Amino acid sequence: MPGPRNIAVLGSTGSIGVSTLDVIARHPDRFAAWALSAHRSVDALLDQCLRFAPRYAVMTDADAAERLRQRLPAELGTEVLAGAQALVEVAAHAEVDSVMAAVVGAAGLPSTLAAARAGKRLLLANKESLVMAGHLLMQAARDSGALLLPIDSEHNAIFQCLPACERGLPGLAGVDKVLLTASGGPFRTWSAEAIAAATPDQACAHPNWSMGRKISVDSATLMNKGLELIEACWLFDLPPERVEIVVHPESIVHSLVQYADGSVLAQLGNPDMRTPIAYGLAWPERIDAGVAPLDLVSLARLNFEAPDETRFPCLRLAREALALGGTAMAICNAANEVAVEAFLAARIGFGTIPRIIEATLARVAVEEPVSLAVVEAADDRARHCAAELVGQLVSRNGAARESTWI
Ligand code: MG
Repeated sequence: MPGPRNIAVLGSTGSIGVSTLDVIARHPDRFAAWALSAHRSVDALLDQCLRFAPRYAVMTDADAAERLRQRLPAELGTEVLAGAQALVEVAAHAEVDSVMAAVVGAAGLPSTLAAARAGKRLLLANKESLVMAGHLLMQAARDSGALLLPIDSEHNAIFQCLPACERGLPGLAGVDKVLLTASGGPFRTWSAEAIAAATPDQACAHPNWSMGRKISVDSATLMNKGLELIEACWLFDLPPERVEIVVHPESIVHSLVQYADGSVLAQLGNPDMRTPIAYGLAWPERIDAGVAPLDLVSLARLNFEAPDETRFPCLRLAREALALGGTAMAICNAANEVAVEAFLAARIGFGTIPRIIEATLARVAVEEPVSLAVVEAADDRARHCAAELVGQLVSRNGAARESTWI
């Protein structure tokens, strides 16, 4: 019996990272947390190091790394590394078997790409990597033979419902389309006026999933579903017209695959990220994830409705970026990250998020994403543009005059 597989958990103090460590801790004979990483959450990473004694602890913020170094007991044997490049090195390290890519946002792209290039089992929770650089990431995985397992719950569900092909990985034989479910977020039943005036705490109060603040806001604007549409097109090599979005407020059906013969296969379960994480860690086996069994009788009803792209324009904007192609998706993602951050800092209103994204998409030129450098340059230009638009708004003292620039 071989020893446990070494797992690098990138973004270990975030919501996905914590759930991953929970599953790892249930199976010490199978998995070892070999590397952990955080941006600057020193206390949380220290606790995780004391519990899991990883070989490496990476902090992308250098000051935070120094503070962690001073507090870690030497006998633990954990080496602290600092900076974004250390994340890339750990992701591609020869002793790592699997990489959980759970860094939030565009910051996760270089390490995710490094894991794909190094041929790792890549557990992909960082959807922004595919949104920004889907072509590069999929090509890198093909070239190196990296096994790419989607952790995003919808894509994990689709992966589970697709037909297996010769290599054990999904194929598309007989598939008509995939149906991507969306909870609709906390504002699903709100009027456009009420949505426009929503506060950060209201946006972060997701009805079903417990998640970080950035993805909670994305879920409230439906940008999360827009990013997931792009993610699905890359992962499963599908044109956008073969991916349908269905609002399903209970978040029990995590997504579905519709076949040529009229069959529709769905994956159901309680909304708990430990299910897709355990699936990714153990694939093709199935292991205990600590998730409560589904009680269909107590659920009684499952509801479905069409998404509303008028009240939730971010979904339309993501579709437009996908249709534009090239670096448009990276531009859309960067503008969204800047706008969400400004919203969470109470600098702009909720209704201004899509307007910042739309204006940025109109202002930044789209290019062919031939290299990581081109993608990162587009990301950078879009961030500057979006930040400038936010700054103009704030200096004009609020939303009253935003129609003057958008
Ligand atoms: Mg998802």
